[in-house]
Amino acid sequence: MIYDVIVIGGGAAGYFAAINCAEARPDFRVLILERGKDVLNKVRISGGGRCNLTHNCPIPEELIKNYPRGSRELRGPFYEFGQPETLDWFHKRGVKTKIESDGRMFPTSDKSQTIMNCLTASAEKAGVELRLSSRVTDLEPQKDESWKVLFAHQKPIFTKKIMVAAGSSNSIWKILGKLGHKIIEPVPSLFTFNIKDPRIAGLMGTSIPEGHFSLVSNFDKKARRKYQLESNGSLLITHWGLSGFGVLRMSAWAARALADLNYKATLQVNWLHPKTQIEVEEKLLNLKTDWSKKTVQSLSPFQNITARLWKSFVNHALENKEKNWADLNKKELQQLTKNLSNATFKINGKSTFKEEFVTAGGVALKEINFKRFESKLLPNLFMAGEILNIDAVTGGFNFQAAWTGGWIAGQAMAGNND
Ligand SMILES: Cc1cc2nc3c(=O)[nH]c(=O)nc-3n(C[C@H](O)[C@H](O)[C@H](O)COP(=O)(O)OP(=O)(O)OC[C@H]3O[C@@H](n4cnc5c(N)ncnc54)[C@H](O)[C@@H]3O)c2cc1C
Repeated sequence: MIYDVIVIGGGAAGYFAAINCAEARPDFRVLILERGKDVLNKVRISGGGRCNLTHNCPIPEELIKNYPRGSRELRGPFYEFGQPETLDWFHKRGVKTKIESDGRMFPTSDKSQTIMNCLTASAEKAGVELRLSSRVTDLEPQKDESWKVLFAHQKPIFTKKIMVAAGSSNSIWKILGKLGHKIIEPVPSLFTFNIKDPRIAGLMGTSIPEGHFSLVSNFDKKARRKYQLESNGSLLITHWGLSGFGVLRMSAWAARALADLNYKATLQVNWLHPKTQIEVEEKLLNLKTDWSKKTVQSLSPFQNITARLWKSFVNHALENKEKNWADLNKKELQQLTKNLSNATFKINGKSTFKEEFVTAGGVALKEINFKRFESKLLPNLFMAGEILNIDAVTGGFNFQAAWTGGWIAGQAMAGNND
């Protein structure tokens, strides 16, 4: 027996491809192979159990700016099936969505189960077959351009078209490597920075809405050209160090550079972005006159710097903590300015961000035809999702890449893009 389409991986990209292919070609036999006992496990745990399914970013030119790897390649696909089309797809199937203040989009139920139910019901309705506990162990291209799919404990099966949507899977990358595809070494992305520093000790839970970060370690010229080593956004002090969307964004842009440094680097933080160091110094100088009789640590002069954080910066900069503004000497003023607008922290490792993490790396993008999400090297081999060297900053962008790739590959496998 030969299938028309076999999809390896019952995740976001695999489900989306299988459903859209089967809906376009009701005469096709479409099968999803899933190694686990259950499907859509990452959808289930995503977004803290709420599934941040996309971002309120309908314009492709803006959307692509959120992909440290894959932005150029995704431009065309996002015009074909981007965020508005994705929302439309889910809305038509009865999923209601909402936008949060930071642009992240969730089902109004606040339950990832809503998305899972939509995908599994749509697959069933379209006649997509599913085999659980079916780990694919090898793929063999056949002379007639069909594919043989092999398992450890099941008989091989054959398919005209194969789609690999196995997420970040070392064993599948090995198979694709053997078939001639180049695999960019996978490294983690979307992590928080481990930092032990007296200025932030005991301040977990303190956040600021907008900071600016740069990695100032000894990167060579090539790394400086290749990686974006600056970022901005919110910042959160945690038990282990620094987190928040700005930090996570930084971790994504610098994922490979930080891996090369074994996650030991120096981070420069401007807690008062977009104020510059000069502007901050000027403000402090004015306070020497305006608040001359007040003790420096008694009140934070900056709206975004909480009283506890201010006190900590003052303690770090001043020898006599009870000093009045009028008595602040030049050295202390400069140190305080530095703590606020140009503070350096030693990163010493990383921690997982529980809400979302992904892998940077995977199948090299130059070997993929992004009009079809098909291999340029081997006919009838399609790929989408995290298996490719595509990843995004946090905020729903990773799923968006999976929906977009899944939809386009589904159409191509159905013969709609021939
Ligand atoms: C904790 C967490 C939270 C996240 N939250 C969000 C979020 O809110 N928003 C967002 O945009 N992104 C989020 N992400 C990222 C997002 O989940 C992934 O980018 C997305 O799931 C990738 O989809 P995929 O289909 O490519 O891979 P996956 O979802 O990983 O699916 C791949 C499937 O293939 C199966 N498989 C692997 N190897 C084989 C094999 N040999 N044979 C058969 N089957 C195989 C796997 O078991 C798996 O089911 C989160 C990630 C994590 C870890």
